[in-house]
Amino acid sequence: MNQLGIDKFLKCKFCNARAVHPRLKLCKEHFIKYFDKKVLKVLKHVPNLKNQSLLVAVSGGKDSLTAAHVLKRLGFKITLYFLNLGIFDFSLESERVVKSFAKNQDLDLNIDVLKPSLPELLQSLNKKKIFRKPCSVCGLIKRYRINKYTFEHGFSFTVTGHNLDDELSLQVLNLATQNFEQAERLNTVLMPKPSLKLAGRIKPLYWLSEFDIALYAKLNNIEVVKSRCVYNKGNKQFLIKQWLNNVDQSIPSFKQGLLKSIRKLLKHKVKGLEFDTSNVKPCKRCGYPTTSKDQVCSYCKIFENLD
Ligand code: SF4
Ligand code: ZN
Ligand code: ZN
Repeated sequence: MNQLGIDKFLKCKFCNARAVHPRLKLCKEHFIKYFDKKVLKVLKHVPNLKNQSLLVAVSGGKDSLTAAHVLKRLGFKITLYFLNLGIFDFSLESERVVKSFAKNQDLDLNIDVLKPSLPELLQSLNKKKIFRKPCSVCGLIKRYRINKYTFEHGFSFTVTGHNLDDELSLQVLNLATQNFEQAERLNTVLMPKPSLKLAGRIKPLYWLSEFDIALYAKLNNIEVVKSRCVYNKGNKQFLIKQWLNNVDQSIPSFKQGLLKSIRKLLKHKVKGLEFDTSNVKPCKRCGYPTTSKDQVCSYCKIFENLD
């Protein structure tokens, strides 16, 4: 066994070379072909994508850096975007890793800085007795800032590193909590809606598992951030991921099959590749989209609550 836990005598099912993926029994060359095929399955939905400029939101983690790496290798026009959230050493290390990736890959990188930082923001909200989960505040800030940056700088799409495990665990959680509104919104691609200041979104790794992505990153020597965010304490989605991985160990392709089935079940409700904008209005403060009844977006509300 090597460090990836792969039997060194295992052979590729196509060419008999040494396998790097134990379950799929693929050598490096055939694994990369498999990987690209899964990525292109998502990208084929957007016509003329090679001529559009894409902003890849990178965090320093394996998923977003792998998304950037594969798109660059396949010849797409990409620029990197990194939001420094000010989460102590974690954000410093993430910025260093992202800068080094951009240099190695010869890619333009835009660094945005959150002020006040996420820890300061959370502290300020706590003082006012507004208790929000750090990851939910972080998620909404990232979505807002990335969309705004993409829209204002003339990119057609934001690319993110969401993978099969992220999407499936969220869909299972949505089903368990009857959150059909969110379930219907999740898709591989969402087309831009400039009239609502909504940039398009693409998730090229939607059909690839965390294992596949970690293997791709390793085979391509992609350095990723080692430290963990202090707020990462394991949430509901993490528990669901563990449970799904356990089942997938015993029932091959269980995760892919379940995600496909959930998509089929929701098909009559999902509005294709378009954003469902039926309840969306421009925020009264910033002009960016919101579904809030008082027409003030959650981002503006958070910043209005500061000292
Ligand atoms: Fe943000 Fe939570 Fe991730 Fe930390 S763990 S970067 S707070 S989403
Ligand atoms: Zn092979
Ligand atoms: Zn707003």
